[in-house]
Amino acid sequence: MKIAKRFGWEAAHRLPWHEGLCCNLHGHSYRITVELEGEPDARGMVLDFQDLKQALSPLVKAWDHAILVADTDAELLAVAEQTGWKHAVLPFDTTAENLSDYVAGYLCEHAAEMLRAHRIRRVRVRLEETETCYAEAERTVTPETHANGAAQAAARQPAQ
Ligand SMILES: [Zn+2]
Repeated sequence: MKIAKRFGWEAAHRLPWHEGLCCNLHGHSYRITVELEGEPDARGMVLDFQDLKQALSPLVKAWDHAILVADTDAELLAVAEQTGWKHAVLPFDTTAENLSDYVAGYLCEHAAEMLRAHRIRRVRVRLEETETCYAEAERTVTPETHANGAAQAAARQPAQ
């Protein structure tokens, strides 16, 4: 059984090495479809859609009306920092492929416990950059995924 929920945000980005128009700062109305594969529980639910929304909400809030800037793009990074405009620094070029893969990884890491509790087997993220272009990333949810997610979550906790 598969369930899916759509999310969206507006953001600016550029690909500094691109030989066409994409090297210029420009915006997209990003739309993503997050698909989860698992089995319905006794109540007939794979996962509460609200729980999925809550899991992705911090990322969507951080990226909405922001500049998505690669940490290697010194020029754009300088503009974002000097102006104080809302921006998110990412450790990769902001292609649709990389963004979709990041969202899939984010969910597997930050919602590891939830995915495990609901026995979700697979996460798929389709990220639409325009009405005609999308990239799709997929992660298989394994016990290792959960263990790594839990370990990373624990590492972020301040030391007692
Ligand atoms: Zn673009």
